[in-house]
Amino acid sequence: MKTRDIAAASTEPMTLAFEVTVSSVQELSPNFRRITFGGYSLRDFGVNGDTLDLRIKLMIPSLAADGTELPLPAFEMSRTGWYREWLAMDPAVRGSMRTYTVRHARLDTVYPEIDVDFVMHFDSQGNGGPAANWALNAKPGDAITLIGPNNRAAQCLTAEAYGGIEWRPGLAQRILLAGDETAVPAISAILESLPEYMTGHAFLEVPEAGDFLELSSPADIEVTWLARGAAIGRSRPHGELLQEAVRKAVPVPGWVAIKAADGAAGPEPEDVNVDVDILWETPQRMETDEIQATKNPGMPAGAMPFYAWIAGEAAVIKDMRRYLVRDVGIDRKQVAFMGYWRQGKAEG
Ligand SMILES: Cc1cc2nc3c(=O)[nH]c(=O)nc-3n(C[C@H](O)[C@H](O)[C@H](O)COP(=O)(O)OP(=O)(O)OC[C@H]3O[C@@H](n4cnc5c(N)ncnc54)[C@H](O)[C@@H]3O)c2cc1C
Repeated sequence: MKTRDIAAASTEPMTLAFEVTVSSVQELSPNFRRITFGGYSLRDFGVNGDTLDLRIKLMIPSLAADGTELPLPAFEMSRTGWYREWLAMDPAVRGSMRTYTVRHARLDTVYPEIDVDFVMHFDSQGNGGPAANWALNAKPGDAITLIGPNNRAAQCLTAEAYGGIEWRPGLAQRILLAGDETAVPAISAILESLPEYMTGHAFLEVPEAGDFLELSSPADIEVTWLARGAAIGRSRPHGELLQEAVRKAVPVPGWVAIKAADGAAGPEPEDVNVDVDILWETPQRMETDEIQATKNPGMPAGAMPFYAWIAGEAAVIKDMRRYLVRDVGIDRKQVAFMGYWRQGKAEG
């Protein structure tokens, strides 16, 4: 990049609003629906590099009494302060903002597109949230606004610099990925991007076996799908299988590579009320000296730094955080814990 481009990039907003339309809708499985969004505006979308767990915001319009979509309020979404003003408006008018992951991005094409995989979650009465309802009714040609990275901004020159990507393994060679269905798109994209030398486990908990999707990775990762079970009454509680799998993979007293030298348990993590606050604890990129520090002298030769990325229902993630931090004694610089949604609570 030329010097004057860097100067220009530093004045660009980190995110932009993109007007896109639905190109296609594909049933991936009983509970996943892939919606492909396309638009010339996406030429400005993205970060330089793999999308990993890149998150975007979808602006879901409110519906009028006759079921037609109300126009979104006219906000300049790259302007500082717009979000606070938008939030203060009546939700019945302003619509809803929801967070999703970019599963694939095809941006170097004449007509750029991105894929988003929606979990089709509905309660026993068939009611879903605004995003699930929108996805259920989406058809080619439907328009929507999304907020995502501006590829001209200085913060989007690398995945690590962009705030909407949390996957930061540093130099770790052994990894753990764990998540429920909402994290499947992110884990899938991360797996595809891993270098060959990485090893570890990925655990993905989904509603039923029909939701096991095709995954690929150049790395040596043992992928385990966990199905809660389809039949009502037979289903395992959300997160139970995931927790069991993580506990088995990282037992107390822990992997030698990540356990403190003196074998002591870790500190009790601060409490987070997941019904009020968002559980979001992600380490910044580990610097080399910190990585050296994790290679404590008691570690056997060949033991490598470890990194874990864990996302899903907030109460489940909170339990896993307590287990890994307190019981196993994992250094919190080596784990990203992310509550992607909260049972019984709408996002926002
Ligand atoms: C960084 C990030 C990335 C995400 N990526 C994806 C993604 O790629 N695909 C995806 O499907 N989701 C993803 N999610 C989760 C998604 O944002 C939430 O599920 C969101 O609440 C859905 O919005 P909604 O309008 O459908 O439901 P809301 O209005 O938010 O919630 C309505 C009700 O549905 C419940 N609910 C919400 N989500 C679920 C669920 N998955 N299963 C069961 N009940 C639920 C809520 O508890 C609430 O009771 C991501 C979240 C984050 C933070």
